[in-house]
Amino acid sequence: MSAAESLRPLTMALSKGRIFEETLPLLEAAGIQVSENPEQSRKLIIATSNPGLRLIIVRASDVPTYVEYGAADLGIAGKDVLIEHAAQHPGGLYQPIDLNIARCRLAVAVRKGFDYEAAVRQGARLRVATKYTQAAREHFAAKGVYVDLIKLYGSMELAPLVGLADAIVDLVSTGNTLKANDLVAVEDIMPISSRLVVNRAALKTRHAQLQPLLDAFEQASHANVATA
Ligand code: AMP
Repeated sequence: MSAAESLRPLTMALSKGRIFEETLPLLEAAGIQVSENPEQSRKLIIATSNPGLRLIIVRASDVPTYVEYGAADLGIAGKDVLIEHAAQHPGGLYQPIDLNIARCRLAVAVRKGFDYEAAVRQGARLRVATKYTQAAREHFAAKGVYVDLIKLYGSMELAPLVGLADAIVDLVSTGNTLKANDLVAVEDIMPISSRLVVNRAALKTRHAQLQPLLDAFEQASHANVATA
């Protein structure tokens, strides 16, 4: 590693919203304060109280890409996002720690009154709208259910209401969004939480800088399990 490389701060990719909010206490546990809140600032590069670490704010589904290409040394992404990324880039990221933050579940939901169990029993071919096509494909293949997957990028809840799909696969947290749209969850696919991901080259070349951060996150994530 060159001298310039060792002076460069570590770059951590994060998305706004729940992941950012729930990462702040983990950073604080590592003695790091963040200079700005991306909800209020338009800045995409945010300094921290540790000159050796800066944050970049990217879309949740772009976090694995920044880390894999080394534009960020590490990042935090939901298991949902990582499954979809790994389908295109298998083995590209090192995932050392489940941080137990931004927890929710990936579930199948249908319009109230739609008899999902009967449709599955009868071997009906279901139209399923989702952003999570890889996780959905694996789930229905394991169940032996034939599905036509329709890729959407947001507002999945709308699809069954306007006849685009019989079912959706989406993240459910409180269940309020499903309820507000007259949908019901009929099957859980998997629990979801956010994980720390690390660039494989950085793991070797920047080990001395990374390790204290990984240790602090590891410890703080245990505290999250305890309070879950
Ligand atoms: P809720 O109404 O609390 O069940 O939240 C459901 C909505 O929030 C859906 O549109 C989800 O896609 C989104 N959502 C819930 N949890 C998460 C999460 N951990 N990460 C990203 N989106 C989430």
